[in-house]
Amino acid sequence: MKRGVLPVTCAAMELPGCCLWFTGLSGAGKSTIANIVGDELRGRGRKVELLDGDEVREHLSKGLGFSKADRDENVRRIGWVASVLARNGVVSITAAISPYRAVRDEVRGWTTNFVEIHVATSLEECETRDVKGLYARARAGEIPEFTGVSDPYEAPPSPEITLETTGRTPEQSAAEVVAWLEAHTLL
Ligand code: ADP
Repeated sequence: MKRGVLPVTCAAMELPGCCLWFTGLSGAGKSTIANIVGDELRGRGRKVELLDGDEVREHLSKGLGFSKADRDENVRRIGWVASVLARNGVVSITAAISPYRAVRDEVRGWTTNFVEIHVATSLEECETRDVKGLYARARAGEIPEFTGVSDPYEAPPSPEITLETTGRTPEQSAAEVVAWLEAHTLL
């Protein structure tokens, strides 16, 4: 019996999955920009899943704290889910501080098309914005192990994309990410 060939009905299905890994300080703009990118990609027919750091800590990483070991475990769990999605053609987007370089690189090692996006908003700017009031509380000593204040942030030395958000709108930063994906045939 002659085998039929299924017609390709959606060009987007041919594009490979990838993982857009946003990293940066609290309040840098990771979630805001990631959400705009996610909406844009969905609008172009891509399957998108956004793993937001705050949300993940309520289920996948419930019970983990903010020690280095717990932060690394949190990043590994997010990374594992993101990599499974990416290898199945999904654009997985993560928005977690993910402060430690080594564990980010570990995730890079197992993830298809890992795109590290450093939201490089300065500590000063994040503190000025302080949308959630967390920096004020951290400075008052109410939040121990707060990244940038009493815990380290290791910036990526060579991320695929660096976003300088000062003087730019979140939409402009999201457009930079989309343009990078187009230039690298991931979109
Ligand atoms: P993060 O996920 O990095 O903790 P959020 O996206 O939750 O950061 O918060 C960043 C805040 O900064 C938002 O309230 C956003 O509206 C604000 N903001 C101001 N200017 C910018 C910008 N240029 N890019 C991104 N966010 C910005």
